[in-house]
Amino acid sequence: MDCSNSSNNSFNNSFKNNRVLVTGGSRGIGLAVSTAFACQGATVAMLFRQNREAAEQALATLPGDGHSLIQADVADAGAVETAINEAIEKLGGLDIVVNNAGIGAYHPPQSSSYEQWQQAWQSTLATNLVGPANICFCAARHMMAHGGGRIINISSRGAFRGEPGKPAYGASKAGLNSLTQSLAVALAPHKVFVAAVAPGFVNTELAAELLSGPDGDAIRAQSPFNRVAEPQEVAHAVLFLASKGAEFSTGTIIDVNGASYLRS
Ligand code: NDP
Repeated sequence: MDCSNSSNNSFNNSFKNNRVLVTGGSRGIGLAVSTAFACQGATVAMLFRQNREAAEQALATLPGDGHSLIQADVADAGAVETAINEAIEKLGGLDIVVNNAGIGAYHPPQSSSYEQWQQAWQSTLATNLVGPANICFCAARHMMAHGGGRIINISSRGAFRGEPGKPAYGASKAGLNSLTQSLAVALAPHKVFVAAVAPGFVNTELAAELLSGPDGDAIRAQSPFNRVAEPQEVAHAVLFLASKGAEFSTGTIIDVNGASYLRS
């Protein structure tokens, strides 16, 4: 664990005593978000799907006490309800949820079979959109009854720019943006604030194969920084949106893409 980088240092311990659930928290962006919150004094529950050993190793890197693991498939509506209740029990409440778990199957329309196409749409929407919608529902009902809370959804640049090789992924993230906006309006009167972060390419396992392959240099060159984001840079935007004083930014979608795609 490293609390010394700038992302982890900028919030002055301002999440002390906050209880945070991060889905897909045990690696990639989710681990960076979990670490950043823990560095700021929060207690974190990391939701993982299958690799307990990796999740336990990740948990051991978090600074501070009281952090925990929850195993669940976010695509399973029943498991989501159980997981939120488990998070509330383990953390003693729930102040912040980060919907980070996501998948991105490759299924270009020109070369996929109809079966592959259907499978990709089904699994991608179940994990990236319906799962977060169910988590938002269960978490928001608790937050509304307990003085409010924050929900941050991890979207993607692909929601705006299109995803020709992964159309279901782009659509799932566009749907997640719309969900974020609808819930921001519906829940603000109940002091539940909802926002999203839309990264471009990030240096994680999800993008590793592409970034190390023949297209890697072209991908990095999409940004004037000539690189992709580090997970900590996404975490920084998440912490801003979850911080006190950011309430009026509810409903917003923050781009973290190194100016590789500028939307109007
Ligand atoms: P990784 O592939 O590195 O990690 C994904 C995480 O999500 C893993 O912890 C995985 O758990 C978890 N997960 C996946 N499906 C489920 C499920 N059904 N139930 C529970 N957990 C699940 O991804 P990243 O860190 O790169 O991405 C995190 C988020 O950021 C995703 O939503 C992604 O779409 C988004 N994003 C990523 C970008 C990138 O370039 N990396 C760019 C833009 C957005 P397990 O290990 O158990 O499978």
